[in-house]
Amino acid sequence: MLECDVAVVGGGTGGYVCAIRAAQLGLKVILVEKDRLGGECLNYGCIPSKSLITISKLYEKTRDAEKFGLKVSGVSIDYDELQRWKAGVVTKLVSGVESLLKGNHVAVVPGQATIAERNRLVVTTGSGKEEIAAKNIVIATGTHPIQIPGVEFDGSVVISSREALELRGAPGDFLIIGGGAIGLEFACMYQKLGSRITIVELMEQLLPGGDPEVVRVVQRKLEERGAKVYLKSKVSSVSKGGTKATVEIETPQGRVSVGADKVLLSVGRAPRVEDLNLSGLGVGTDQRGYVVTDKRMMTSVSGIYAIGDVRGPPLLAHKASKEGIVAAECIAGLPSAADWTVIPETIFTDPEVASAGLTADRAAQAGFQAKSVRFPFAALGRALTAGETEGFVKVVYLPDSGSVLGVQIVGSEASNMISEVALAIEMGATIEDIAQTIHPHPTFPEALMEAAESAAGRPIHQLRL
Ligand code: FAD
Repeated sequence: MLECDVAVVGGGTGGYVCAIRAAQLGLKVILVEKDRLGGECLNYGCIPSKSLITISKLYEKTRDAEKFGLKVSGVSIDYDELQRWKAGVVTKLVSGVESLLKGNHVAVVPGQATIAERNRLVVTTGSGKEEIAAKNIVIATGTHPIQIPGVEFDGSVVISSREALELRGAPGDFLIIGGGAIGLEFACMYQKLGSRITIVELMEQLLPGGDPEVVRVVQRKLEERGAKVYLKSKVSSVSKGGTKATVEIETPQGRVSVGADKVLLSVGRAPRVEDLNLSGLGVGTDQRGYVVTDKRMMTSVSGIYAIGDVRGPPLLAHKASKEGIVAAECIAGLPSAADWTVIPETIFTDPEVASAGLTADRAAQAGFQAKSVRFPFAALGRALTAGETEGFVKVVYLPDSGSVLGVQIVGSEASNMISEVALAIEMGATIEDIAQTIHPHPTFPEALMEAAESAAGRPIHQLRL
C-alpha cells in the first residue's frame, strides 16, 4: 500500500496546482489521474480552444486586410497542420506540468480512483489495483458536459466541445445548442472559419446572467456576420440522416426546422463524482451534485477536501487553481481561506467579454444605489490603430464613496484588461485611484482610466454626460 499526507484525485488545473503547493509545503503528495495531466483546461478546453480562436481571428483579419492597404491573396487553412500545431501547444504545456510535478517530488499514479474509506483510495490502473493510504484526500475531478432528452452525443453529428476542437474543416451549417460562454466561443470561431451559424438559447439573452448591454454587442456582431440567433427557444429533436441533421426548434414564433452538418451541444456541465463513493463516505453535495465545502475547501467529512469545477460554478481554471492552493495550505496548517472578493471572468468571443465584480443589475439587486459609466473603444486611440473599435468599458460604482463594485468590458483585449480591475477591487480602489493612475498611451487599458475619469465627473476624451 502506498502512503502519503495528501492524495489528490484529478490532475487538472485544480489538482496539479494543489499537489505542487502541498509538496512545496513539505507534504508527501500522490496525484491520481485517469486521463491526461492538465485536465480539461489544458487538453480539451482553454488551451486548444484559444489556440484555434487565435488562428480563426488571424484568418479573418488577413482576409479583411485590404481595407488597411495590405494585399494578401490565396489565404487558406491547412486543417491538418493547424491541428498539429494546436496539439503541439497542448503537449508542451502538459509536459511542463509533468516536469513541475516531478521537480516538486509529487508521485503520479495513472488510474481511476475511488475513495474506499476516509483515508483510503483504491486506484484501478492499467495493471490492476493500487491502494493508497492518505491522511488527507483532495477531490479535484472536474465536470463533464450534459445532454438533453432526445439529443445525445454521437461523436460525429451531435458533438461536444471535445469533438468541436478536432474538426478537420469548418462545418457548412453549424447549429449550436446553448448560448453560454463555450457555445459562443465556438460560434465566433467557426463563423470566422466559414460556417453558417445558428444558435439556440433557452433564456431571453445570450450569455445568461451577463450585462445585457455587453451581450448586445456580441450578438450584433454574430448577426452582422450572418448568424441566426433563436432566444427563448428550445431544441425539441435532432433527427439524423447520414452525415446531416434536421433540428426542430420551438421558438416564441412557432416551430422551426433547421438543417445542420454539425450540432454542438453545450448546455451545461455536471460534476464528475460518479466513481467516488461520496454518499457512502457521507460527503455532502448540493442539489446539482456539486461537492459542498467550507471556505477552507473541506467537505462535510474531516480530511476530505474538494476544489475546482467539482465544487460548482463559476467553472473557471483560475478559480480551480486558487482553490487548490487554499486546500494545500489549509492541509499544511496555514491560515488560508477562500477570502477573495472577485473572480474575474473572460469569454473569448469576438469581441471578447470580461467581467469582474457586480454588473449594474446585480448591484441593484444587492441593494446598492450604484451608478455606471461607459467609455467606448471608438473614442480610444489604440483601438483605432488596431482597427478594433467595437465595444466599451463599463464601470459600476458607488457615487458617494467612489467604490468600484464591478467592471464589464466588451471589446478587443478585454481578457487582458480585466486583471487590473480585479486588483483594483481586491485592493478596495476607488474611481479616483483608477482615474489618477497614469496609464501608458496608446493602450487599451486607457479605456478603464477614461471611464473612471467620467465617473469622477471630469471626462477628457468624451463629452460630459
Ligand atoms: P478538470 O480540468 O476537469 O480536471 C479534472 C481531472 O480529474 C481530469 O483530468 C479527469 O480525468 C480527472 N478525474 C476525474 N475523475 C477521476 C478519478 N475518479 N480518478 C482519477 N482522475 C479522475 N476556463 C477558463 O478559466 N478559461 C477558459 O478560457 C476556459 N475555456 C474552456 C473551454 C472549453 C471548451 C471547456 C470545456 C472548458 C473551458 N474552461 C475555461 C473551463 C476549465 O477547463 C475548467 O474550469 C478547469 O479545467 C477546471 O479544472 P479542474 O481541475 O477543477 O477540473
